[in-house]
Amino acid sequence: MTSPRFDANLTTERPTFVTHLDCAYTGERYEADTVHNLSRAGKPLLVRYDLDGVRRALTKEALAGRPQDLWRYRELLPVRRVEDIVSLGEAVTPLVPLPKLAAKLGASELLVKDEGRLPTGSFKARGLVMAVSMAKEFGITHMAMPTNGNAGAALAAYASRAGIRTTVFCPADTPEVNVSEIELQGATVYRVNGLIDDCGKIVGEGKAKVGWFDVSTLKEPYRIEGKKTMGLELAEQLGWELPDVIFYPTGGGTGLIGMWKAFAELEAIGFIGSKRPRMVAVQAAGCAPMVRAWEAGEEHAPRWEDAHTIASGIRVPQAVGDFLILRAVRESGGFAIAVEDAAIQAALDEAAREEGFLLCPEGAATYAAYKQALADGRVGRHERAVLFNCATGLKYPLPPVHRTLDRHQPIDWEGF
Ligand SMILES: *Cc1c(COP(=O)(O)O)cnc(C)c1O
Repeated sequence: MTSPRFDANLTTERPTFVTHLDCAYTGERYEADTVHNLSRAGKPLLVRYDLDGVRRALTKEALAGRPQDLWRYRELLPVRRVEDIVSLGEAVTPLVPLPKLAAKLGASELLVKDEGRLPTGSFKARGLVMAVSMAKEFGITHMAMPTNGNAGAALAAYASRAGIRTTVFCPADTPEVNVSEIELQGATVYRVNGLIDDCGKIVGEGKAKVGWFDVSTLKEPYRIEGKKTMGLELAEQLGWELPDVIFYPTGGGTGLIGMWKAFAELEAIGFIGSKRPRMVAVQAAGCAPMVRAWEAGEEHAPRWEDAHTIASGIRVPQAVGDFLILRAVRESGGFAIAVEDAAIQAALDEAAREEGFLLCPEGAATYAAYKQALADGRVGRHERAVLFNCATGLKYPLPPVHRTLDRHQPIDWEGF
């Protein structure tokens, strides 16, 4: 078989199968191919496909012959026409084993899905490449969002590429590199003296006053379709056999909800069986609304006051998709777990020093949670666990190094 052109997924018209959308809370049906935000009930909308049609159109063999990027799953994605795809090269991200750390813990297999390889350095690219491609399809001209940094950067990049104007609001203490990359990639970014949900309120008001399109987490239906590809990739990379347990750093929860949706779709098209991983929602102890709600057996998670953590990507006090996160965690037999900032920092240092893997703080939180869960017996040593490293560790402030060497002085060779 000859290999396909590198850009075959971006240039080949393929059939698409979206039938409608429905409200994730009430099940009310909404028509496809028109602009949506939340449902009338104020809840997220989920995109639905003719999965029998996909089953007939797509085989594992056909998939295996396509280039290794996100767009290889086109039949399970919402974009209708290739001309609307706004791509910056969304590579399939590798599963990297951490054998030394696993051996130290007496565990058989520990894998990290390294999302830091994506355009703009985080998995927010998956969601935003889809949302912006759909916005292009709909002719949207101005998008706005609240962000803790990475989502804003991905939105700015893709929207500029598509010729769409963007306005972005982030908390004042958002990592410096995020604020800079957002502006540099063509958005207008404002630091706001508040948290991400305070920024979200400004976007919501501006929607009415300025007419911009609100692309907040789960307030439009397509970011989740992009994030879903993490689940599709994971299944395919593991030979259509899902792992035993997935540790996901949970903010708005798009990725966790998206993967859970992906697994259901893969089963419906006959690519996997009914085995599911246990989904573990990892949060920081200083902002753990899902953990509190999970422990209390609640369906919704009220706002977490005074949220603080070094893992800025998961500093989300309140999530509109709370019930979907909690539902997926419960249906999967998983759990929600909080880790202290000190444990996150220690996990980050350990993985960097011993495995040469620079996790982002949110990714480090999943490793800290994994160790905690191994210790308390919620995860077994024989189980195959996948951690999500959601961004490159290079995006975050790194510790300074003060060691110097004066080349004009005698060198103490014994000292090295
Ligand atoms: C956004 C983000 C998260 C949280 O992802 P959700 O799917 O919104 O819960 C975790 N880590 C990083 C680095 C992020 O940017």
